[in-house]
Amino acid sequence: MNFLAANYRSEAIKYIENHKFDLVVIGGGITGAGIALDAASRGLSVALIEKNDFAAGTSSKSTKLIHGGLRYLKQLEIGLVRESGTERAIVHKLAPHLVNPEKMLLPLIKNGTYGKMATALGLSVYDFLAGVKGNDKRKMLSKEATLAKEPLLRDDIVVGGGFYAEYRTDDARLTMEIIKKAAEFEAVSLNYMQAIDFLTDEAGKVRGVKAEDKITGTTHEISSDYVVSAAGPWVDKLRKIDNSLEGKHLFLSKGVHIVVAHERFPVQHAVYFDVPDGRMIFAIPRNRTTYIGTTDTPYKEDINHVLTRKEDVDYLLKATNDMFPTVKLTIEDVESSWAGLRPLIHEEGKSASEMSRKDEIFESETGLVSIAGGKLTGYRKMSERVINIIAKRYQKATGKSLKRCYTDKIPLVDGGLKNAAEVASYKAALLKLVQQLGVADYYADYLVSNYGKNATRILENSVNFEGTGEEQLIRAELAYALSTELVFHPVDFFNRRTGRVYFNLPSIAPVLETVLADFQTFFGWSDEKVAQERQRLETELYEVSHFESAEAVEAVS
Ligand code: FAD
Repeated sequence: MNFLAANYRSEAIKYIENHKFDLVVIGGGITGAGIALDAASRGLSVALIEKNDFAAGTSSKSTKLIHGGLRYLKQLEIGLVRESGTERAIVHKLAPHLVNPEKMLLPLIKNGTYGKMATALGLSVYDFLAGVKGNDKRKMLSKEATLAKEPLLRDDIVVGGGFYAEYRTDDARLTMEIIKKAAEFEAVSLNYMQAIDFLTDEAGKVRGVKAEDKITGTTHEISSDYVVSAAGPWVDKLRKIDNSLEGKHLFLSKGVHIVVAHERFPVQHAVYFDVPDGRMIFAIPRNRTTYIGTTDTPYKEDINHVLTRKEDVDYLLKATNDMFPTVKLTIEDVESSWAGLRPLIHEEGKSASEMSRKDEIFESETGLVSIAGGKLTGYRKMSERVINIIAKRYQKATGKSLKRCYTDKIPLVDGGLKNAAEVASYKAALLKLVQQLGVADYYADYLVSNYGKNATRILENSVNFEGTGEEQLIRAELAYALSTELVFHPVDFFNRRTGRVYFNLPSIAPVLETVLADFQTFFGWSDEKVAQERQRLETELYEVSHFESAEAVEAVS
């Protein structure tokens, strides 16, 4: 049965209740998804539960780069840079439509973070560690060549530049594709199902979870031999329920990105640039927008509701206007934003940006395995490490060995796109269908990046719907998400399935009523329920685009 079809939820719940699994994974971010795929492909039976929507935690709030982490080189985290470097090439190969090569410009400035010699050497080491070859190898640029690549940069402080290779992705789509792939290996994943307690045997070992269905309010027991918590910023909350919160703990740091129309900030390339306070941030062009980020500040507020504050926006705007003085961005230019939490491992005496981005695995007396920290880029290796621990326990308990990890050979979206060149020619072919539908050309890029070769299926189905070209397209996207991507709320659809909340917010209003009507028909919603869902979406759209001052909020509360 296709448990990722939204109309089979009750069957999926019955199935997980009546089935004993080898492994329950808590958390449907990139880490939990990766663990589910690793485990299921190695032969374990797996259930994954996520308390919100898939990727609704940190895994939809990152800078969306599959990168080697240049700044970790500066902190001499060579192992981390090497692993991220090799991983980005693997993840690109597994999903070339979704992990796109992106050249990065690093302007060098007077008294900046990186000097010329150090950058030349650093970027060479970076390329070497990541095995970068041929044309993709870093190039050092003169001042003139740097300004020619990016004329918006201020010319009074730029003294040269480095030009090197990275990859850009969509974190939420990547998470979703991994969950879908895990389902092909019979992992059962359910969103809106929160682990509220652990089931234990007479010896006190964790043998499953008690979970609450956040849609109906009912509770369910899911039995398993092993439980892994990949709950990101919530990992310590689950360790507390497990009575194992001791020793190292998480430190949460907030990171904000803002989105402006590309025509307001028309960078030619992704740029990684210095901020006067000594930090560095990215400006990354993406389709009709450019996004800018990130901040890095300690976070102590509600971890279930992280908001972009006016101070965050002001900081990013000031940093951008300092380096690109003719652009003159104002808060009115900010179309959208996102705010996420880095689950860092606390290190005494270090600031948020100095703390390591390495992942950490906690094994408790009860057998619970928790993993936190790390990077989107490293999800596959992190998953392998976790399942290697489970594999050892499994062998001890059953005498049987699990297969070795081979997720580096499991393409994430079927259909045969093998590399960037094939993606480009598929995109060109798809453009004709997009034009026939009468929607803007950039939808070819959008559809291929989001859905890979499934874009053809969506576009072909669009003609079966009535409405304008935009309506036909979104209705076909929704039909696809309802039948294959477990979408329950319009806000999830517009945010994590399609990316429109961040990268095409103005496209939502014209199709909103059509989408709500299709949801209503599919789930048989009352008008009252439709009104609630409209309100929920409108609140989200307001929060990503209107910013209160943290100081003012604190004063009121
Ligand atoms: P999450 O995505 O937070 O997933 C944990 C999930 O567990 C959540 O969805 C949550 O709802 C669920 N959960 C919690 N409690 C329960 C429960 N009781 N029951 C069920 N489910 C539960 N990495 C990169 O490689 N490249 C980048 O460019 C990059 N940029 C970043 C920028 C920022 C601002 C931030 C914050 C991070 C960035 N990272 C980047 C790091 C990367 O985003 C994270 O390492 C990664 O997303 C963490 O994924 P996760 O699955 O561990 O956590």
